[in-house]
Parts: sequence; C-alpha cells; structure tokens
Amino acid sequence: MNAVAHPTHIVDPGQAARAGAVLTIDLDAIAANYRLLAERAAGAVVAGVMKADAYGLGMARVAPALVRAGCRVFFTAHVDEGIRLRGIVPADSTIYVLHGPPPGTAADFLEHGLTPVLNDPGQVREWSALCARIGRRLAAAVQADSGMSRMGLAPADLAALGDPRDWLAAFDPVLLMSHLACADVPDHPMNARQRLRFDAIRAQFPAMPASLANSSAVFLGPDFHYDLARPGAALYGINPQPGHANPLRQAVSLDARIVQVRTIEAGAAVGYGARYVAEGTRRIATIAIGYADGWLRALSGRGSAYIDGVHVPVAGTVSMDSITLDVTGIPDARLQPGMSVELLGPHQHVDDVAAEAGTIGYEVLTRLGARFERRYVGG
Ligand SMILES: *Cc1c(COP(=O)(O)O)cnc(C)c1O
Repeated sequence: MNAVAHPTHIVDPGQAARAGAVLTIDLDAIAANYRLLAERAAGAVVAGVMKADAYGLGMARVAPALVRAGCRVFFTAHVDEGIRLRGIVPADSTIYVLHGPPPGTAADFLEHGLTPVLNDPGQVREWSALCARIGRRLAAAVQADSGMSRMGLAPADLAALGDPRDWLAAFDPVLLMSHLACADVPDHPMNARQRLRFDAIRAQFPAMPASLANSSAVFLGPDFHYDLARPGAALYGINPQPGHANPLRQAVSLDARIVQVRTIEAGAAVGYGARYVAEGTRRIATIAIGYADGWLRALSGRGSAYIDGVHVPVAGTVSMDSITLDVTGIPDARLQPGMSVELLGPHQHVDDVAAEAGTIGYEVLTRLGARFERRYVGG
C-alpha cells in the first residue's frame, strides 16, 4: 500500500485545529494513476470522470491536476456539474454530461460548451430540435444499453428510432458508448455478453468512436478499451480488481483529532445504545469525526483506526460528530487532546474501510464530508 503525505501527530493550530479532521488529497497520486491508466489503455483516449465533485475529492483541484497529466476529456453526471467544470478546465476540453439534457435544458449545453450523452429517444429529439433551431450540427454522444438496464437506448428504443443513419444526421455523433455491470469481476459472463451486444450495436453505427470501459474494464484487456476509456474510481486509488493487488496509488488520507480520553472499568458502557460494555479496565479515546462527516454508522463496533500504525478498534456506536476508540495500551503521551488518529492513510485504505462497512470504496469516498479541513498536496 502506498503512503500519502501524512500530517504530524499534533494537528497544527489555526483552521485545522478548529476542524474535527484533516482530509489530505494527493494530486500527484491522482496524476500518476491517470498516467498508469493511459498506459494500460494505450491506443485509447483516457477521460477523467468528475461526477460527484470528483468522487468527493474536489473537482476544482483534481481536474487541473488531470489536465497537467494530459487529460482533455471529462465526464460529469449532471448539467450543473458540467457548467462548474467548464470554468475549471481549458476551453478545448470536452465535457460530457452522462445524464444527458433534462427536458428544457438543451440550451444550457450550447451556452456552456457541454456535450450531452443522449440516453433515450426524448433526449435525441430534444438535441435534434436544438440543432435544427440554430442550424448547427452540435456534438453529442449516444449511449446504448448493452445489458445493465440503467441508462441508454434500449433495444426497443433503437427499433423505434429506426435507421441510425437517418436520425444521427440531425447532430454530430461523436461517441457511441455503453456501460458494464460487472467489470470488477473479471471472469463474470456479463462482461463478454455485454461486449458482444455492444459490438452488435456498433455495427448499426458505423464510423462512430466507441467507449465501454470504466476503471475496472481498463484491466479487462484491450478488447474492452475501444477508442475512449472512462475511469473514475481508479484515478482516486480504488482497487479496480478487488481480490488482486491494487496497482494504483492511494490518493487520500484522513486524520481526526482526539477530543478526550478516559479510563473505564469493567461493566462500563460506551456510546449510544450502550452496545459496547468493557470486560476489564479500558482506555477510551473520543475522536472528532462521525456519521455527519460521512464516516458510516455501519462502522459501529467494527471500524478501525490507527495510532502510529497500531490498530485501535471502534468501541460502540458511531455518533453524529464523534467516535469512541479502544486505545488501551497506547501510551498517554500519544493520546493528548488535539493529537491525530489515522482513519485513512498508510495503514488503512478506502477499500479496507468499505469492506468493514459492508460497502464499496466508491461510497466511502463520495461520503467524505464538507466539514473536514482539506489539504491538497502535490500538483
Ligand atoms: C461512473 C461512471 C464511470 C466511471 O466508473 P468507475 O467505475 O468509477 O471508473 C464510467 N462510465 C459511466 C457511464 C459511469 O456512470
């Protein structure tokens, strides 16, 4: 596991001490991850997925770091995310909006230079009408559903629209894309099934550049790369192939401040619901992070933190603003109020926390809250 820059024990005075925790985002690690993905998908353009404010890490800093690493194509989910990103990246960058134009918003795309991903016949009509109105064939991507049943033109939509050569003429079709349901499980039969289905759809859309790969699919091999890959999670260090060694650099560390430390005797309860009861004398540290900061309540009684590399388990329930840790055995000199405890960093990866919480690294990352003091290093 790769270390990221890590704050010292005492959270320094000023803003960091006033916040409960410090979130450090390593822009060099994100840039290095971009370059590794570009290497793995050599021959394809590699875009950067920026939805949910760059998976919670802050598009305003992450996007310029990716630009410096050579990225010129970006994806957001929503129109307003695309508008914000337009003010951050160079004018010649392409910004795709995955959800396409909600009814009545086609003009926003034109004004802000955004490229919609058209997902249903209504969006195709909306975009075509705008192009007809202004007398220009504006760029758009077309998404087809290859088996995930979430977004994109379904087989019935394609049948209803008729010959693509007719309806594609209304605009400038720059990308044909689809999305995989099971790319993180390399030998899942859905991968080959969706790829074959995608190839069959591509045959009806000759000469359109194609895109199928998210982060995990970049690691499924060249058959999945097509002309453009669209990784998000891997840029931010999430393991694209769970169960295999993670080739990517960890991009975040999170350190929370100790608020208070106490000794409790056998039989004493800790936290809401009195779910933890001490079996002997224990030392309990309360740290300044909770579920309102995105530290999932599912980590109650099962999450972990680290003090100088020593594992300290969560004792009791995760509260809104605090967590109680069993720090028995940690020297008092290291448990003073204001000192920091590692929640993400060299000893604990986002994916480790996700496994303990029964979720995926994506959810852990995107929940990381707005109350932290954020520090960007590198870039
Ligand atoms: C979120 C998303 C991606 C990026 O997926 P990762 O697994 O984070 O790499 C790519 N394409 C689409 C359509 C998405 O919704």
